[in-house]
Parts: sequence; C-alpha cells; structure tokens
Amino acid sequence: MSVVAEGIHGCLTKMAAQVNAQGEVAYTLRAGDHELSLNERIGLPLSIQWTGAIACTHCGRATRKSFAQGHCYPCFKRLAQCDTCIVKPETCHFFQGTCREPEWGEKHCFQPHVVYLANSSGLKVGITRNTQVPTRWMDQGAIQALPIIEVDTRLQSGQVEMLFKEQVADRTNWRAMLKGQVPPLDLQEERDRLLASLESGLSELSERFGEGALRRLNGPVQHFTYPVETFPQKVVSHNLDKQPLVSGTLMGIKGQYLMLDSGVINLRKYTGYEVAIR
Ligand SMILES: [Zn+2]
Repeated sequence: MSVVAEGIHGCLTKMAAQVNAQGEVAYTLRAGDHELSLNERIGLPLSIQWTGAIACTHCGRATRKSFAQGHCYPCFKRLAQCDTCIVKPETCHFFQGTCREPEWGEKHCFQPHVVYLANSSGLKVGITRNTQVPTRWMDQGAIQALPIIEVDTRLQSGQVEMLFKEQVADRTNWRAMLKGQVPPLDLQEERDRLLASLESGLSELSERFGEGALRRLNGPVQHFTYPVETFPQKVVSHNLDKQPLVSGTLMGIKGQYLMLDSGVINLRKYTGYEVAIR
C-alpha cells in the first residue's frame, strides 16, 4: 500500500494506462522519475501545481511554450514525429525523399499498422501502430475497440482510413466522452456494414498495395471500463497556463483526462510541464 498523502514532483509525461482481463483500466501518473498510482486516489483530494517551467520531452531544454505536446520549438520543427504527416498519415512524404528523419520513419512508419473502429463518443475510425494497441484506445477513452484491417505501413493505414472517413468520424467529441453516457455499439456489425459498403474502394486499395498487403482482421471486440466514481454533468476544463494551481477531489479518470469536482484537465496537453502533485 502506498501512502495516500504522498506527493511527487517532476516534468509530466503521458499517464500510463494498463488494462486487466476484465477490461478495467488502471492509471499511473508520471512526473520525472516518479510515479503515482491514481486509481486508489479516487474520492480523495488531489492538487497539481505548475512551477512555471517546461522542459522539452525530447531534448530536455527549457522552453517557454510547449509545441506538439511537450516539445521545444527547434524539436517541433526538426523531428519527424512532430511533422504534420503524423497526424495525417495519408500525406506521408517519405518516398519523395523529404522525410525529416528517414531512419526514424523506417523504424516507426514502415511497421504494421491497424485500422480500427472504436467507440469513444460514438463510432469512429482510427489507425495505430500494432505496438500501440491497446494503449491508443485507452488514451482516447474508448469503451470499445475492434481492429479491422492490418497493413504494412503508416501511409497505407492512412489511405484506408481516408476511405472509411467517407462514412465514419475520425474524431472523438471529448466532452461527450467525459460525460460518460456513451451507449455501447455492435462494432462487429458496424465493421461488416462498412466493409460491404466500401467494398469497391477497398479492392482498389488492395490492388494498389499489392498481394496480401491489406489484411482483414477478425479479432474480438475489446472493452474498457474506466475508474470513474462520478461523471461530470457539465464539462469545465482547467488550464494550467492560466491557473497554475489546480485542485479538487478526484472523481475519475478517462482517456488522458483527470476529472476533478472542480473541472477536468487533459494531462497530455501539459506534457513537459514541471509540476508538484499531492
Ligand atoms: Zn527539444
């Protein structure tokens, strides 16, 4: 048992989320080298005090502003992982010879990716590297997820996603996700419906990618239950840039959001911020 009143200090990184066989998600808050198990803090007071400092998560240099979730401006302009093609994988420009870091690209983008359906605030389509499953879904606060197609590269996954976007959203409505009244969906039925109606587009892509490059998956639907005692009725967000001290009673955690009785805070937005948490 850890001591409840214990606090930690350091620069924030993304919360770690783990899921057990029952689909229950457990969160660990990370600041510098320190970790704090959060599930056991639910129902108790929690405060986050920003010191005013931000350190780049890549190079460690101090930065006045955080770019692309925790980077200094030079890293933001230089790193492949901060390029716009990461958000829009269908715009991958590796083959034009203009990848910012071809080695990084080879290691991260030329790897198997999955196209999935998820239910975070309703049906959505998304892509992720195989190694990011199921983390990606928990980061989005999805209550259900189903991988539907596997391909060999990030670019291909983006091209498949573009096709699905003709019929399905690719965004989460985070307010709706946090309110918690997200009705469950039959993702297998949605998959079958979409695969049927996008049949011709999929065969075109399949031909373009080559034999066996577009693989349909038939795995089970994954379910996630988040540690939430009470969902907020009205979603008000905290902003550390405007108010460096955030405190309240921790009511729940979903996605990368802490739900306090005083408002919600998206911790991912504050990656690299030096904070004291108690
Ligand atoms: Zn940097």
